[in-house]
Amino acid sequence: IEYVNKTYDRIEKYDKTINAFITVRNKNEVIKEVKDNILKGGKLAGVLIAIKDNISTKGIRTTCASKMLEDYIPPYDATVIEKLKREGAVILGKTNMDEFAMGSTTETSYFGPTRNPWDLERTPGGSSGGSGAALAAGYVELALGSDTGGSIRAPAAYTATFGLKPSYGTVSRFGLVAYANSLEQIGPMAKNAEDLGFLYTIIAGPDDRDATTIDFKPNENIVEEKIEKIKIGILNDILELSDKPIVLTIKNIINKLASEGAIIEDTRLGYAEYALPAYYIIAMSEASSNLARYDGVRYGYSRYMEGNWREVYAKNRGEGFGIEVKRRILLGSFILSAGYYEEFYIKALKVRNLIKKSLDELFKKYDILISPTMPILPPKIGEVVNDPVKMYAMDLNTVIANLAAIPALSMPAGFYNNLPIGLQLMGKYLSDMKLIGISSYIE
Ligand code: GLN
Repeated sequence: IEYVNKTYDRIEKYDKTINAFITVRNKNEVIKEVKDNILKGGKLAGVLIAIKDNISTKGIRTTCASKMLEDYIPPYDATVIEKLKREGAVILGKTNMDEFAMGSTTETSYFGPTRNPWDLERTPGGSSGGSGAALAAGYVELALGSDTGGSIRAPAAYTATFGLKPSYGTVSRFGLVAYANSLEQIGPMAKNAEDLGFLYTIIAGPDDRDATTIDFKPNENIVEEKIEKIKIGILNDILELSDKPIVLTIKNIINKLASEGAIIEDTRLGYAEYALPAYYIIAMSEASSNLARYDGVRYGYSRYMEGNWREVYAKNRGEGFGIEVKRRILLGSFILSAGYYEEFYIKALKVRNLIKKSLDELFKKYDILISPTMPILPPKIGEVVNDPVKMYAMDLNTVIANLAAIPALSMPAGFYNNLPIGLQLMGKYLSDMKLIGISSYIE
């Protein structure tokens, strides 16, 4: 009871400013559940967890930070939520995010921006910024996010926490509100490598309700990897595009690892400049198709029923979606339209393939690839959100892993002027636990 009370006091005191949560559950209900679950047992018995608000929670409103779903209460739990509940975890609340996970700063939310607990003038990154901020603000020790093109790793980097974008297909997407299905995974966020791995092993595994999951369950032992003789490739074409304080911080870590016996080489991804356009073409195309279901009739915001179908759709969608979501629906529909499909979409798929092949080659030589997680320091609130191209450019380093389906982890690398900097580790497909083990060593 003391633990839950302290948590609620903290939220009461700080969250009006930080705005990490869209929904916090009723305290008495949570206390009851904590007590019951401690009696029942489980690996997370009575542990509070924060969940990104695009993951379906039975009986708890799931808004995707959109006016479109402001009042939507799912009648079912996502698979990951079922798994957490089975182990006794207790959902504390639903965290703020960019609307439908479209953004890199948690500023496109209908519920207002989340502020970075390390510097309230700045963003915590996004789109899972509420989950990152909830960890950094000390509300919880564990959180879930989703990562389509960096949305777990950006907030992990900017809040000095740990986040994993798992290998595609290792975590069920059943109950995750879709943005771009071929790219995204739900993943763990935590304050250290051990907790990160622990949470990953609980949520991972095959699921009949998501045909893209594979028959694979990660090893439950989180072993700290020895760094001696580990072969590390530095992705210089990415490093070069990052701000100076970030490059210096990452180089410090590299030097330290080299002095401890790691074998480190400079290398390049190749096609680095094409990754971002390819990602946005694919993500927007899938988004425009996924978001067609919000037609004002079946789901969510449904204020207008007068007139013909076109008027009904246009009015409800016009009011229900924010500007960034509309931009992506328009661009995605354009990209998929006759004539442009070959010119943009097919080309983007070819780039995706080239990047995959390049990574396959690199992983023949290296155990892991290192780069900064983000190319710039956490932006000030308002700095990038109105300049979409600038905002998209922040995802340069993170989208690669989503295009290639490989695991990628962000961990704290250091600070510059009190601002957190993240280190990104990428590994070959299904090497998630190895990445966690290496991050545990570096930590
Ligand atoms: N910033 C990227 C985008 O807006 C990634 C978002 C995400 O991973 N959900 O698409």
